[in-house]
Amino acid sequence: MLELIKHKDFTNGSVFAIRTEDGFLLEVTDTFLPIYTKDCINGHTNKLQSASIGDRSERWIIGVSCMSGCPVRCKFCATGNMKGYRNLTAEEIVAQVEFVINQESNLDYGWTAAKEHKINYTRMGEPFLNIEEVKKAIAIIDERYPGTHHYISTIGIKGADYSWIKDNITLQVSVHSLIDDKRNNLIPFKNKVTIEELGQIRTKSNLKTTINMTLVDEEDFDIVALKKYFDKDYFFVKISPINVNAVSEANNMGTGVIKGINLI
Ligand code: SF4
Repeated sequence: MLELIKHKDFTNGSVFAIRTEDGFLLEVTDTFLPIYTKDCINGHTNKLQSASIGDRSERWIIGVSCMSGCPVRCKFCATGNMKGYRNLTAEEIVAQVEFVINQESNLDYGWTAAKEHKINYTRMGEPFLNIEEVKKAIAIIDERYPGTHHYISTIGIKGADYSWIKDNITLQVSVHSLIDDKRNNLIPFKNKVTIEELGQIRTKSNLKTTINMTLVDEEDFDIVALKKYFDKDYFFVKISPINVNAVSEANNMGTGVIKGINLI
């Protein structure tokens, strides 16, 4: 169903370029982290404790695409540069997970034996523009691989239903700037909610909703607006560097505020 085109290895995993049967490209990641990185808040640091990065038996994370291409066209993301886009079927989403699991079939433990085994719906595409197939994929994965955690990232599509986000399913919202005009420029997709409306989202997940901020300018992180719109009892903030690419460079995004490598 899916054909491997090329892959690149890095310190804590690999990224794969894959082609569907009808010729659409998508991206899948296979990464891992030491289990203590899950508790960086209580540890008051997100730094690695040593050069040893562990293996997939601790935190094993598969990043899947929900679309080939993406109509959202964020200013720092290369995906929007692809010509056209297509929603992926539930079977194609599940096949990405099983592609990675099969790639690692030489391990003497399996996907469900990892202390945390999580699927990030964060590669190509906006999950909520293909949400029925994403939900079907989650149901199939939960049946085949019990204990899997699902982590769904969205820009906040108007009218989206979050009532089914509960237990082992967690939401991430793409904020990027706490100034609406700047956010509208970074995420030039009209049918999305405001920052204030993002702050009203509530889920029944085991984990808080993550506020994802790929920070371009320091002024985008406005602590007053953050406290005004987002209740810390329901939200957790993640700040990410820009992964520099042709689109981010064409839009003069630079390297962003965060100088570091995003291992996740
Ligand atoms: S929604 Fe995600 S995949 Fe789509 S353009 Fe934005 S960052 Fe890229």
